[in-house]
Amino acid sequence: MAQKNEHDVVIVGAGPAGSMAAIILAQKGYDVLLLDRYNFPRDKICGDAVPAGTIERLWHYGLKDKVDQAVERGEFYRVDSLLLVSPRGYDIEADLVDGHEGAKSYVAPRMHFDALMQQAAVESGAKFCQAQAKAPIMENGKVVGVKAQVNGSTQEFYSKVLIGADGVTSVIARNLRPKEKQHEDKHRAIAIRAYIDDIEEIPHEVEFYLYKEILPGYAWIFPTGNHTANIGLGMRLDHFRKHNKNLKKMLQEFLDMPT
Ligand SMILES: Cc1cc2nc3c(=O)[nH]c(=O)nc-3n(C[C@H](O)[C@H](O)[C@H](O)COP(=O)(O)OP(=O)(O)OC[C@H]3O[C@@H](n4cnc5c(N)ncnc54)[C@H](O)[C@@H]3O)c2cc1C
Repeated sequence: MAQKNEHDVVIVGAGPAGSMAAIILAQKGYDVLLLDRYNFPRDKICGDAVPAGTIERLWHYGLKDKVDQAVERGEFYRVDSLLLVSPRGYDIEADLVDGHEGAKSYVAPRMHFDALMQQAAVESGAKFCQAQAKAPIMENGKVVGVKAQVNGSTQEFYSKVLIGADGVTSVIARNLRPKEKQHEDKHRAIAIRAYIDDIEEIPHEVEFYLYKEILPGYAWIFPTGNHTANIGLGMRLDHFRKHNKNLKKMLQEFLDMPT
């Protein structure tokens, strides 16, 4: 039997977008329910690079201490520059600019970054519930809530506003978008990511590599510590399918490339 819950705002997805929305709205005094299919901390495939401007947005919402503590614990790793290698082998190196208020840029693994944000949302007053959203609830052509699976049973969460922040495979967007506006392969990418922990010391630099086999796409090496890095590559999905590529093999080939 479905149970009824009512809130000002229900947010589906506690990634950076959903948690940030929850922080802002809860700090304004709204009754916010934040749903995610996972409990936190949880991993998410990403390059983990967080620019200084984003760090300053977090400062503005009272998260400076949390960010500083994550840096002290070694969870966020400062990066100062960027290297871009072109398909013809040309390099561009540039300094990353500090934020207007002096913030640095970081590589902040999502396991830590998203947990920090989700925790800040809860501390700001949002309620959190592990729940897998199934579909928006519609009444008279309007969205009035969301139906979700919680501990094996279906629950209905009603709200004045429903925010679909459930990422690229959003069940909310898929249900509400007309058929002709659904994502196409040429607007999507496919990627693989790994953490490696036995590399020689690398600079505080995020590195992007563009080369023939991966275009349109790129590979990256982003340091997460003195000898650890987030490495990965991604390319447009339609090209990936057309050329029958294998991501694991592509990543190995990238790692085997001469420096
Ligand atoms: C390979 C790769 C590398 C990237 N590198 C970078 C980078 O270095 N820097 C950068 O800034 N961005 C990067 N991005 C982009 C970044 O990952 C996204 O912009 C960001 O994650 C979007 O945040 P979000 O909160 O909208 O969605 P997400 O981070 O995807 O969060 C969505 C949340 O919704 C939850 N969810 C999904 N479906 C449901 C459901 N049905 N019910 C309940 N919960 C649900 C998920 O569990 C998740 O917690 C990268 C992306 C990829 C794929």
